[in-house]
Amino acid sequence: MKRLLCTLLFLAAVCTAAFAADQVYCKWCGSSFAGAQQLAASPCTKSPTRKHELYGGAARRFYVCQYCAAESANFTQLVTSPCSKSPTNYHAAYEGAEKASYTCKHCGFQSQSFKQLVLSPCTKSPRTYHDPL
Ligand SMILES: [Zn+2]
Ligand SMILES: [Zn+2]
Ligand SMILES: [Zn+2]
Repeated sequence: MKRLLCTLLFLAAVCTAAFAADQVYCKWCGSSFAGAQQLAASPCTKSPTRKHELYGGAARRFYVCQYCAAESANFTQLVTSPCSKSPTNYHAAYEGAEKASYTCKHCGFQSQSFKQLVLSPCTKSPRTYHDPL
């Protein structure tokens, strides 16, 4: 009996861990879901398509806005806070990985600083600032 209890406790721990690893975010409204299926099951009030869309980046210590480089450890807080540089007026979480250097996808400009890259003017970019790859 004791052994069965141990097994059950172990299974519960594994399930909890798997649940946490499956946590996904909508990149528009910042809501978190237990998986991509749950995310697709309800409408989104912030998305241009009215559907939640999966944030494609990895989990990070700090999420960073791809337009102004604002950082937040809380994904939901980042994407629901106003941004003066973003076309949607809200911060948009950068989906790329943390790198040693960042490259502009329009002109190839490189910078070790994400912030410097996105806040510097770019002659080739439609929004007049460099966009990180
Ligand atoms: Zn959403
Ligand atoms: Zn921003
Ligand atoms: Zn550029």
